[in-house]
Formats: sequence, structure tokens, C-alpha cells
Amino acid sequence: PTTTAQQLPDLLPGLDWIADPLRVGRLSQDFAWFSPVLKRDLAGKRGDVAVRPRTEDEIRQVVAACAKAQIPLTVRGSGTGNYGQSTPLHGGVILDLSGYNGFGWVRGGVGRAQAGIRLSDFDAQAKPLGQELRWLPSTYRSATLGGLFGGGFGGAGSINHGPLAAPGNVLAVRAMTVEPEPQVIELRGPEAMLLHHTYGTNGIVLELEVALTPAVAWTECIVSFTEFDAALEFADRFGAAPGLEKKEVCFLAAPIPAYFTSLAEHLPAGCHAVMLLVAPHSEDGMRDMAARYGGTVSYRKTADEVEKSHKSLLEYTWNHTTLHALKVDKTLTYIQSGFNPATRLEQVKALEKALGGEVMMHLEFLRTKEGAFNCSGLQLIRYSTEERLNQIMQIYRDHGVQINNPHVYIVEDGKQNNLDPAVVSTKQRFDPQGLLNPGKLRSWVPPVAKAA
Ligand code: FAD
Repeated sequence: PTTTAQQLPDLLPGLDWIADPLRVGRLSQDFAWFSPVLKRDLAGKRGDVAVRPRTEDEIRQVVAACAKAQIPLTVRGSGTGNYGQSTPLHGGVILDLSGYNGFGWVRGGVGRAQAGIRLSDFDAQAKPLGQELRWLPSTYRSATLGGLFGGGFGGAGSINHGPLAAPGNVLAVRAMTVEPEPQVIELRGPEAMLLHHTYGTNGIVLELEVALTPAVAWTECIVSFTEFDAALEFADRFGAAPGLEKKEVCFLAAPIPAYFTSLAEHLPAGCHAVMLLVAPHSEDGMRDMAARYGGTVSYRKTADEVEKSHKSLLEYTWNHTTLHALKVDKTLTYIQSGFNPATRLEQVKALEKALGGEVMMHLEFLRTKEGAFNCSGLQLIRYSTEERLNQIMQIYRDHGVQINNPHVYIVEDGKQNNLDPAVVSTKQRFDPQGLLNPGKLRSWVPPVAKAA
């Protein structure tokens, strides 16, 4: 094929192309810089040109042209991923879907929208209809629904509904194949999940249908503590209490709260903090429990106050904790971990004892895919060397904790190589030439290489 990515704007002049190298460079990046390892490994990786289609027909035109000329295509939502997920390893076109963002409908407890819709926009449309999304990553203000499905896990709300991957959360996807004559296919139920968390390698998601939950006017609180164990136990007990309705419980051991300079007046020096979103009718129950563990409610805002202030505590939780800490200390990084539901608190306490000072404990409480109450960690690390970082992750594994390594960019490496073989056959169906985000899905072997 003779057509190059740089020639596509002339070939399809009606589309919104971005060829300016600086802007293309920016659209080639995400938040992989949280990891010194990824920052090094992905340096200089970029697309050749970007395009922002607004309609399915415009998407089809780009996809058909790339398939005919065998030009790599990397899908991008808002580029808030953490592992260079939307960074092309082999150049080509960046397909920015943020302009393909129509809200479809809410029917009962189900909603549907185009992939490029921002999660905050989805909720703004769903809430007046009495429903809200089941999970909000802390990047909800800018992140897209397609990006959450393609590269995310869950977020606030996962304490009630588990991760996106829990059966029943995502009901269907409508996706486009990458072929000279692209097909549009609707997949429902478990089949739809074969496109989840595959970094845009398994088809271009056009629309998503997701289960919702009744909207609540969440009150946001910080409960601060002087004792690590008391804060941890409160977070755990409140998180698990079935009668107390909540959307978020985040535990931040000292000295993490000290990184939140804009909340300093609400965070006593040296405190351990629990940040939470609670339903108004459950606030008294939460306060009783906090008092029993010696906690003080040092911050409180009603849903109205949150809306007026344009500042939500959610933007201090999940990986926003890491972002705020990095603003203060650029030498930090983080790890992601999943505890054992049966022994979670013993594991947390043992690891705090073993690595406290070097590893700062940040926990998010949630339900697993199977429904067990648990916590996962986004621990902050005082980074010294890659070798020490790997040792720390090994110490976690030696304590029986699962590590989801955030310092790798290949799909399988982030999943401890537990890839459902059906993901690979889905790749074959949706991207037979291997043009989607090439190099990110190791298990798929290109047909030519296979023949050789
Ligand atoms: P992008 O980064 O643009 O894309 C992510 C991946 O999905 C890429 O591989 C891309 O190719 C693919 N993709 C995008 N759109 C499509 C599509 N339409 N079809 C097929 N593939 C597609 N994640 C969480 O799960 N929970 C959190 O709480 C959370 N907190 C975060 C906090 C910070 C500060 C940061 C930097 C990241 C956080 N993340 C979190 C990661 C990320 O923000 C979310 O996963 C987010 O939903 C990604 O959305 P996006 O639109 O930015 O996707």
C-alpha cells in the first residue's frame, strides 16, 4: 500500500484532522508519567496524525481508509489512562472519539450513549431521570464511557456494584470492525465483555448500554483519626455495613493527607483520613460509627454544596490521590494491589508494618467481581530504583496480595497473564489485520507471522 497516515487528511478532507506535531504529540500521551518506568519505556512513542470524527459515517471513512492502507489506528477517549493505553507504539492515526458523544436514553435502570460521552455528562443527563452511573473513576469530569470500558476498572460505586467487569454492569456494546468494509456488530452480555480492558485492540466501541442505579444526593465527608488501626477498622466496618448507604470509602494513612494542600484546614496534622460519600439518611449512622472508633468528622458538604463549589472529594480518591501527591513530590510513584477478602485487614496491617515509611497505604473499599467485600490498594511509593519497586511488589505478593502492575503497557502484563482465550478470537473477528493499537495484545499473533 502506498497511502501513508500523513496523506489521509487530503484523501478525506471533510473530517476534523489534527496534523500539528505538538498537538498530535499531546494526543499521543496519557498519564503514564505516574510511572518512571513507563515514562522511560514510552518516551517518543506517538501517532503521525489525529482525527476527531463526529458521526459513525466519519468513523467508518477513517477506518476503511486505514484498513485499505494498513495504517495503525489507536482509539482515544480523553487520554486519562495510566498505562500508555492510548499511546501508539507504531505511529499511525489517533482516532479521538471525544466528539462522538451523544447521549442515547435512560429506560428504567438502563442507559445507553455513544462511547465518547464524558462520564460527568452522562450523569448530568441521567440524574434528572432518577438514575446515575454505577461506577465513577475519579477522572469522571473528563474521562469517556468508551475509555472507561476500554482501559478502566471502576471507581466510586464499585463498593456497591463491583468493577465494570462484574456480570450485569455492562449490558451491550455496539462496535466496528477494522476492515476495508467495516462492519458494525452489537454484542450483548459476556460477549460484550471480550472488548473490556483490552486497550482498544479488540474493536472500536461506538455505543455502550449499561445498568444504572437510582440517583442519590450524596453527602461528602472526611473522618479523621489519630490511630492507623482505628481509621482502617472504621473504613472497613462502615464500608461493609449493609444498612448504611454509601458510594465511596477511601482510606488514606498518614502522611498522605498532608499532600492535599487545598484541604489542609480539614486535615489535622499527622492524621489518617477516611474520605466517604454517604446517603443523607445514612449520615447519622455513619457518625455514630465514626465516634465509636474515635474519629472526627472534619469536613462535610451536602450534594448542593458540592455542586455549587465545583469541587468533589472524589477528585482526591482513587488515582487522584497519586496525582495530588505527585504535585507536591515528583519522586513518588504507586502500585495497585488486590487484597484477600478473608484476611484483608491482617494483610494491610502486616504490610504497613513491613514497609511503612517507604510505602504509604491508600485503600479503596469495594466489592469484587464475585461480590465479596474487600479493599484494593493504590499505595504511594517513595521511588528509588526499578529494582526496589519490583522488590516491593514481590513483598506484596509474598503476603498473598495480588499485584496489578501499573508499570507495564501490555494488556496481559497488567492481568498477570490471565487472558481469556476468547479475547484473542474476538481480536481476530474485529481486527483481522492487527491494526488496532498494535503491540499491546501479546497473545494475538498476526496471520503472516503465523504462516511464517
Ligand atoms: P483513554 O485513556 O482515552 O483510553 C483508555 C483505553 O481505552 C485506551 O487503550 C483506548 O485505546 C481505549 N479506548 C478508548 N475509547 C475507546 C473506544 N471507544 N473503543 C475501544 N477502545 C477505546 N480508572 C479507574 O478505573 N478508576 C479510577 O478511579 C481512576 N482514577 C484515575 C485517576 C487519575 C488521576 C488518572 C490519571 C487515571 C485514573 N483512572 C481510573 C484511569 C482512567 O482515568 C480511567 O480508566 C478512564 O475511564 C479512562 O477514560 P478515557 O476516556 O480517558 O480513556
